[in-house]
Amino acid sequence: MLTIILKAGKEKSLLRRHPWVYSSSIHRIEGKPEEKTKSGATAVVQSHAGQFLARAAYSPQSQIRARVWTFNESEPVDHALIKRRVQKAVAYRATNVKDTDAIRLIFAEADGLPGLVVDWYGGRAGWLVCQFQSAGVELWKSAIVQALIAETGCANVYERSDAAVREREGLPLVTGVLAGDMPGTETPAEENGVRYAVDVQKGHKTGFYIDQRDNRRLVMEHASGREVLNCFCYTGGFSLAALTGGAKNVISIDSSGEALTVARRNVELNGFDAAKAEWRDDDVFKTLRTLRAEGKLFDLIVLDPPKFAASSEHVDRAARAYKDINMLGLRLLRENGLLFTYSCSGAIDADLFQKIVAGAATDAGVDARILKRLSAGIDHPMTTSFPEGEYLKGLMLQKM
Ligand code: SAH
Repeated sequence: MLTIILKAGKEKSLLRRHPWVYSSSIHRIEGKPEEKTKSGATAVVQSHAGQFLARAAYSPQSQIRARVWTFNESEPVDHALIKRRVQKAVAYRATNVKDTDAIRLIFAEADGLPGLVVDWYGGRAGWLVCQFQSAGVELWKSAIVQALIAETGCANVYERSDAAVREREGLPLVTGVLAGDMPGTETPAEENGVRYAVDVQKGHKTGFYIDQRDNRRLVMEHASGREVLNCFCYTGGFSLAALTGGAKNVISIDSSGEALTVARRNVELNGFDAAKAEWRDDDVFKTLRTLRAEGKLFDLIVLDPPKFAASSEHVDRAARAYKDINMLGLRLLRENGLLFTYSCSGAIDADLFQKIVAGAATDAGVDARILKRLSAGIDHPMTTSFPEGEYLKGLMLQKM
């Protein structure tokens, strides 16, 4: 049996039910030589004094050397555990997620399946799109796929394990069909009455930024009659929301031409007047300055950039980038105009983000009301023991 014995004192985070064992916390590993090199093998984690702490998936190459399956000594790691976790996650979404068929079905650690992300598009006739981002879920892949099909009634499962985090676990990047049919380039999804084409094969992550659903709804509710600027628009999520909410017009910026092609398609799918939507294939930092030079002003601006801080080492540089776009955004707003501003960098918490935005307001020479603090949707549950899951934060501001 593979046993991980921690250094003295290093049991504290596990006793608080935090599900990670860092390599630096490990005193000694006991087991057969073949177990000690087996990616994803189940290990018992013990305190220095020999107390049972958890059963965890062992990842021989990762800094996060093991991820907890269970803190319960009498719970074995087997098919039944996988099935129970999937069942629970599916039931939670069935009760809580409304007005969409684009759902984050499994949110990794927060659903007791460390490193597994599953997004579900289009209901039973649609696709389950999976990212296996840790050694443990990689080893249990076929059990997971079986459980997903059984619990959802959706037979099409596609793998998008091409996120760079796989490399930290020593896993190769792979994509492809795991069950059922190959998805086309346009998997249909509907959110808050808006239709989107999702390219699950080639789109970012699993094809769509499901986490922003509630925030897109909020923009929809405030868009009526407004001139809107959507920065980092990807396939036009916030732009379509604004048009649905009755925006006068929307300018959207993204540096990915492929994303903008899908965005234009989404305008067509929803039958909107293409003249109301202008798409700029360009850099946001540059374009915000151009718009200011052109003397443009807006009533509603969305800033939803990619993750500027990949880890805590990049926080300073990322903070400068967030501050820059927020300062420019605030300057481009009319009086009483609304700014919806986000950060998806886990290394920047909500307090720090608010301070950065406050600094941006100072530099822009404006005062702003904080109307709302924003986060990811309910299908990205935040748990008490895993603060890392709370990566998306945002503010709804009004220029005074
Ligand atoms: N708001 C979107 C998701 C945004 S993802 C939604 O609701 O679906 C971030 C986007 O920023 C990506 O589409 C990426 O292509 C784009 N991007 C990254 N850096 C950029 C830059 N410097 N200028 C313009 N777009 C950029």
